[in-house]
Amino acid sequence: ATPLSVTIGTGRGARTGVLYRSAEALQMAHTVDTIVLDKTGTLTVGRPQLEGVAAAQGFTRQQIIETAAGAEAASEHPLAKAIIEAASVEGLPIAQASSFSSITGAGITAMLPISGGSQNNPKSVEVIIGNRSLLVDKNIDMKADEAIAHQAETWAKQGKTIVYLAVDGHFAGVLSIADQIKPSSTHAIEALHKRHISTLMLTGDNEGTAHTVGNEVGVDQVIAQVKPEDKATIVKALQQQGHTVAMIGDGINDAPALAQADLGLAVGTGTDVAIESADITLVSGDLNAAVTAIDLSAATMRNIH
Ligand code: ADP
Ligand code: MG
Repeated sequence: ATPLSVTIGTGRGARTGVLYRSAEALQMAHTVDTIVLDKTGTLTVGRPQLEGVAAAQGFTRQQIIETAAGAEAASEHPLAKAIIEAASVEGLPIAQASSFSSITGAGITAMLPISGGSQNNPKSVEVIIGNRSLLVDKNIDMKADEAIAHQAETWAKQGKTIVYLAVDGHFAGVLSIADQIKPSSTHAIEALHKRHISTLMLTGDNEGTAHTVGNEVGVDQVIAQVKPEDKATIVKALQQQGHTVAMIGDGINDAPALAQADLGLAVGTGTDVAIESADITLVSGDLNAAVTAIDLSAATMRNIH
């Protein structure tokens, strides 16, 4: 492309919400044959909300929300925010947790004060919240509660994220949290397929939820229960198979994959770390801008404006 057409392409991009960080990004975007997309915050809006609670024997719905919110108070995760918001909407007290520890891509553990202790000798319980594997790793027995397992499965099939809760080593119940799919996602995926680009959705979420969301937006392939560090490994594997790969993501955990990809596209509504790791910023978060980014690149290389 001539310097003039690069300038024109960059300017047209900026006006339509596509910020190219380099001339190279503009020139190569149309060569991409595979696009890897993050689910939460990229294909979905990224503002999950609590929709349902299923309590195990001996626990109430209120106890579950209260306990989960207290334990999650120090977490920055969107799921944590959904739980804390639900507790405050319902006017429930949020206790101050201590010894908070986060297990990226799995959940958190924390100690939560409970009544019955004295000032000198406060009582607290250990709370574990996260995906099913985290509770399995912590040796929490969830087999006794068939009804909850069934409810969780039903919710997951509807595309909800299921968060599991354990208190003092006992399974306490599950929370169903829903994140809306962006209205633009389905159209953008279809437009990419028309350009013979294949699509792959990655998520740390469970299989059931991931496949429901993946089917709804129409991506070619879904990989669920992906650990944050594995996103970049998957991009690299595709490159080693000879693909020219773009990655679209919004989170801190997407940054290594954005950097590894031949073309990294960050959703502008996402984290600064993702934006800094990317070659292109999609200002609005509308995924159709990714299609524009590719079309502008093709037009630039043909010197067509
Ligand atoms: P995604 O790839 O969808 O952005 P993450 O990798 O952040 O998801 O997390 C993967 C899964 O781990 C979540 O779907 C959830 O089940 C669990 N998880 C992670 N962090 C938390 C948290 N703070 N509270 C509860 N569950 C969590
Ligand atoms: Mg995300």
